Amino acid sequence: MNGRVAVLKDYGGDFELREYPVPEAEPGALVIKLTRAGVCGSDLHIWRGEMKDVYGAPPRDLTFGHEMAGRVHRLGAGVTTDSRGRPLAEGDRVTFLYFFPCGRCRVCLHDEMANCPRKARANRVAGTAPYFNNAYGDYYYLRPGHFVFRIPDDISDDMATPANCALSQVLYGLTKAGLRQGDSVVIQGAGGLGLYAAAVARDLGADRVIVVDRIPGRLELARAFGADHTLNIDELATPDTRVAAVKDLTEGFGADVVADLVGYPDVIPEGLRMLRVGGIYLEIGNIAPGNVFSYDATALVRGGTRMIAMANYSPWALGESLAFLARTRHRFPFDKLVSHVFPLERITDAFQQAEWSRRGGDPLRVSRAAISM
Ligand SMILES: [Zn+2]
Ligand SMILES: [Zn+2]
Repeated sequence: MNGRVAVLKDYGGDFELREYPVPEAEPGALVIKLTRAGVCGSDLHIWRGEMKDVYGAPPRDLTFGHEMAGRVHRLGAGVTTDSRGRPLAEGDRVTFLYFFPCGRCRVCLHDEMANCPRKARANRVAGTAPYFNNAYGDYYYLRPGHFVFRIPDDISDDMATPANCALSQVLYGLTKAGLRQGDSVVIQGAGGLGLYAAAVARDLGADRVIVVDRIPGRLELARAFGADHTLNIDELATPDTRVAAVKDLTEGFGADVVADLVGYPDVIPEGLRMLRVGGIYLEIGNIAPGNVFSYDATALVRGGTRMIAMANYSPWALGESLAFLARTRHRFPFDKLVSHVFPLERITDAFQQAEWSRRGGDPLRVSRAAISM
């Protein structure tokens, strides 16, 4: 039996579908029949060619994608439960980490699996056995040493697909930033990460959630996802006015936590100025190489500023993300996070749609693409 894998031939251009044999599951592994995949900001960076230092120019048999959900197709010997210890059977709906902390190094031992320097990542050269190493294909081979979670029945595939990336990342990040009941938080950027961050902050008990963006449709959605206040950078046209607005909304002190979920380094100095003395800046947005910012080191010292940055999350965060979705599914409009679902054979259209949306799209209507298998 064969399955399809999408392979990128030209940066910014078309994918082609190739077929490979579906492998058997070795002991400790799973073969997943994928049902959905997402187009994440980092996937767009790869598609545009902004990671060509890593993947070559032109791209050579490049296959990628990391946000996904599916059903257990084959259970390898010895796998009887998910990572929470719940029974797991063929046909069950699952989500899983797309990276693999080693569990055998100093960093993992310090309870920081997110930062494991030896974590295994996906092979991105199409045709490398076991062939199904990424999200844009019919199957996914979940190697031994994985973390997998059953998806609760009342969470749809569309809701579950971003859980293993955007949602887990912000849930982990805000928790690591120490966000707690009564805090005020500023979220820079109302894309997928920012909307989840607003909702997670609300669920964690934040007293004041302030979201900054320039697209009215996104800011409106941010309010539906729990923002108390939204700041439109076209209306508050300078960093000084935006910093002043945050101070006004926080009794003159500034926010306890500010999170960059934009991905442009220019927002960092402004975000640092929005913090209260001793506040924490959470950096998640910048993932493409070469994003440099400058800031007055003395202001950091006088401000008692703390900064943390992270590119992944610890496995517990995915379990908690599913619990968060189940708990808040009637409170926040998660169904509005996907507007277009394209079949795998139209994956190029999904990327063009995502790119159009990323560049502003229709400013009044938020559109997002997903891929169905
Ligand atoms: Zn992602
Ligand atoms: Zn490790």
